[in-house]
Amino acid sequence: MRALLIRIGQVALTFALFSLCNALASQFEIENNVSILFPATAIAILACMTFGWWAAIGVVLGTIVTPWGGMSFKTLLMSGLISAVEGIMPWVVFRIRRDISHDLRDMRSLAVFFVFGCVLNTGFSALAGNLLIISHPAGTYLVWREVFVWWIADFTAALLVAMPALAFGHALFSRIGGTTHRELAERPRTIANAIQILAVIVLLGFAMSFVIRMSLLNVLEGERLEQQRTWAKATVLVNRIHDNFLGIAAMDESDPRRTAMLDAARHLNDAEFNALEPALAHTSPELSRAVPEIRALTQKWFAGHGPNAAQVSARILALRGDVEAADGKSWAEFGRKRARIMFVVGLVDGFVFLILVAASLTLMFNISRPFTQVRESINAMGEGEPVDPEKIESGYLEFRSLAGALAETQAELHRREGALRLQTERALAASRHKSDFLAKMSHELRTPLNSIIGFSDLLAEQEETIDHVKRINFLENVATSARHLLHLINDLLDVSKIESGKMKMHFENVDLRRSINNTVRSTSPLFVRKRQQVVVSIPEEPMIVRADPSRVEQILLNLLSNANKYSGEGKPVSVISEKLDGRWRIEVRDRGIGISEEDQARIFEDFEQVYTRGPNSSGTGLGLALVKRFAEMQGGEVEVRSKVGEGSTFAITLPAVEQAADSRQQAAGFRY
Ligand code: ADP
Repeated sequence: MRALLIRIGQVALTFALFSLCNALASQFEIENNVSILFPATAIAILACMTFGWWAAIGVVLGTIVTPWGGMSFKTLLMSGLISAVEGIMPWVVFRIRRDISHDLRDMRSLAVFFVFGCVLNTGFSALAGNLLIISHPAGTYLVWREVFVWWIADFTAALLVAMPALAFGHALFSRIGGTTHRELAERPRTIANAIQILAVIVLLGFAMSFVIRMSLLNVLEGERLEQQRTWAKATVLVNRIHDNFLGIAAMDESDPRRTAMLDAARHLNDAEFNALEPALAHTSPELSRAVPEIRALTQKWFAGHGPNAAQVSARILALRGDVEAADGKSWAEFGRKRARIMFVVGLVDGFVFLILVAASLTLMFNISRPFTQVRESINAMGEGEPVDPEKIESGYLEFRSLAGALAETQAELHRREGALRLQTERALAASRHKSDFLAKMSHELRTPLNSIIGFSDLLAEQEETIDHVKRINFLENVATSARHLLHLINDLLDVSKIESGKMKMHFENVDLRRSINNTVRSTSPLFVRKRQQVVVSIPEEPMIVRADPSRVEQILLNLLSNANKYSGEGKPVSVISEKLDGRWRIEVRDRGIGISEEDQARIFEDFEQVYTRGPNSSGTGLGLALVKRFAEMQGGEVEVRSKVGEGSTFAITLPAVEQAADSRQQAAGFRY
């Protein structure tokens, strides 16, 4: 029900606007029932494009209620149908071709509308209208001049009213039509498209006004000149007929020359009438109809029977008066037509100008505002403030993609800023670390040196009094400190070589079983001293990795000596190896003092020791740092699991090298 009411409303609106425009158009007739201004075409097109075929009912009704020049009902109905087809044609094309858009937002839609909504439909209407509606003299079916005027009037209305309304008022029209075009939002307009539409409308609009001015005014003026010439000729001829007649009528009847002269005058009279008739037939059918009667009157007079001379003279003079009156009338008609054409030309020019101004202002506003917003966003970005590119208000695709690019740039800047911050933090931490390292290193060097100097001084000073046992004791202290110093310097050299990238690694296929056995063997005196048992479990198969054997042994040596150092007397130590996910893993487990979770995080750093004094502080704090570095340099890693008081497990994993079955034994035999 509601839908029906809406339909009726749409038909009524179309009807009202169409009949108004149709009535207005009748005031601008310049040809036989053809007007040079026909805005109703635009109404028909817009109504059909917006409401669909229902609008055609309004168009037909509108034509019938505002008839022109006494047309029959049948002709009016025909005329209404032609206007309806004119409106429906583009609607049908846009309905069939779903890929083109009603709001002409791309070049293709614009071109399709131009062809079917401006050129072809108005061309059809002009031809069909001239054939079926305009009455012509018998035998004439088409008058091209009338077709041209009809077409120009309809085309101009479609181009200057329907096209810009559809192109720029799409949102408004789709709302009136009761449909919301979701595609509007999905297919944003581009500035280039807006300028294209504007260019088409403005250029063709001015071209139309030029064509109207040049062709119609030209033709009208040419016609008028032709008429003027005929009227002048007719006046001269009528004057001559009159002079000839008066000359002979005024002659004395007794004059002996009269008979001869009468004959000559009659011939002249016939000749003049012969010239007058076709001249008038061309320009004024009514006047030419009056001529034969006057001619017959003169002929009767010349034959000697008929009206008296005064009556004949009066009729000839009346004809002259009629010719002059007709001349005046055609001047008036010319003036009226000229005024109509000039008015329409002015209207077209004014309309195009208005469209140009309105579109330029809208474009300027729609471009300058988002431009300002883009500039502000870039400024804000430059100052490091967060910007929301979504806030750039523009329906134009160009600005939307600019906003997208800004959003991406902002994200990229954020990413780089984060990376830079991280780098700076790392650099600062490295510099701090270096200072700490230097401070600790000098401290670590000074302690054993002080001890060496102190004990050597004591030995030197108390040379006389010192007993043998004490001397041995002092010398042992000096030796321990010197060994510690050597150990420290060796470790330091390794660290600095690694840091400066000068540490040379000699990679080869290494069987880890051999490395384990070597290190267990070389550290066994330490374990014997503390009565600690070392349990080694290694697989049958070779544990081949790509590594530097001396560095692998250095790793294991550090781990084993730590296990020995930080475990009490008699506490067992085990070395367990297994293969996990293509990597060899060696665990060194002890039941020693253990490391708290907090300390586990830092023991792999240079000079980090859990205890800096007391019985568990004898090391350099560089051992685990080297273990980690060496492991990583060989594609491996190191991890720790520990609980205070229960013991620790240090594990090192290295990527295994897969051996071919036959070469396995050989490799094992060669290395192990
Ligand atoms: P250090 O020369 O002092 O042993 P490391 O770098 O080898 O230096 O070890 C750093 C610290 O980690 C040691 O001072 C010690 O406190 C702790 N640590 C290392 N291994 C063990 C372990 N097996 N048991 C308990 N603590 C350990």
